[in-house]
Amino acid sequence: MLACKTSYLPTVHTFPSPVSTEDKAISLQEKKAYQIDGITASNEFDAARMNDFTKVNDSTYRVTILPENEPINESPHYAFSIKSDQLRAINLELYYGDYKHRYYPKLSRDKKNWFPIDSMHFDTLKAGNLANLKLELNQELLYIAAEELRDSKHTDDWLQSLSKAHNHIKLESVGQSRLGRDIPYAELGTGTLEEKPTIVLMSRAHPPEISGYMAMESFVEELLRETPLSRSFLAKYRIMLYPLLNPDGVDLGHWRHNAGGIDLNRDWAEYNQDEVKTVAQHIVREVSEHKNKVLLGIDFHSTQEDVIYTHTDNRRSAVYPFKDLWIHALEENAVGLNPNEEAYDLGKPMTKGWFYLQFGAEGIIYEVGDETDRDFLEYKAQVAAREMMKLLVMR
Ligand SMILES: [Zn+2]
Repeated sequence: MLACKTSYLPTVHTFPSPVSTEDKAISLQEKKAYQIDGITASNEFDAARMNDFTKVNDSTYRVTILPENEPINESPHYAFSIKSDQLRAINLELYYGDYKHRYYPKLSRDKKNWFPIDSMHFDTLKAGNLANLKLELNQELLYIAAEELRDSKHTDDWLQSLSKAHNHIKLESVGQSRLGRDIPYAELGTGTLEEKPTIVLMSRAHPPEISGYMAMESFVEELLRETPLSRSFLAKYRIMLYPLLNPDGVDLGHWRHNAGGIDLNRDWAEYNQDEVKTVAQHIVREVSEHKNKVLLGIDFHSTQEDVIYTHTDNRRSAVYPFKDLWIHALEENAVGLNPNEEAYDLGKPMTKGWFYLQFGAEGIIYEVGDETDRDFLEYKAQVAAREMMKLLVMR
């Protein structure tokens, strides 16, 4: 092994609540178009999930949704298309086995424009592991999904369109996932890289967490807006963006894990999984080579409600008290952005703790509620980006 390579390896960290991240087996869903009574239900597209399609009675059909492996966080992701060779109304059950319903169904005709199902046509039963949709089917494909679909191609297209529109973004792949998908990377900034203080942005460790991913897109687009603020910010800072940490999990329609069967946001101590290892090594190597100091890392996720997870005050980062000023600025915004900060100390091996342990940087997990209004989450992310830039440009 070359000496110059080993010096760039990230440190193996000790977290108070270690988690085993050695490979676990996953089961792949069978990709197929199911056909019953002239109804066709299919999972033959990226990010789809449907493990079975069966008939319950003359008017009711069932889609079974199962996780990639267990134990697993209760986040049943589903996505499939359905059509009928003649016009008909049906009841469609979403059945989650031992798990409870989480995501309010979204419908689309083209996989691009989505709208939530009419509440008159949707209910969940008491047991919680069954949801019921009333649908009118015809020959036109109807897509039904837990959240708006964002497969790996979507992220690739988004990055390409940004790089066409802006000079100060550079794209590359930093390596491959377990199953050989590119792990995309974008570098934002103007002028030299050398000795610039650095901000790291990440998203999509957890495949179904679309609202957090949407916030990340809006946040990044705000950094690239050609304003005096963003020009000053991009001249002063290096921004390293990893928008899709888990491309296999995303395209396989996983609930939570990567193709190694592991929650990637538990692997930031030992780097057992290819995706975390690749990204951690890339960050450490790049900032070593260019003598950058990482000041801040923000990782975008989704959960039941908007919340910003931060460190407790015993972990004073290199930009202390940045996070207090930033949260305060969001609280003071006229629209009422409800940052809802929750501080906690190092626990499991997540990115928040890793940024602190590896670099002495501020680590933040920016969580967006699953059903948070999409216009609101975009606006909030834009304000969050502007307030971050203001604080860091003045630093
Ligand atoms: Zn998450």
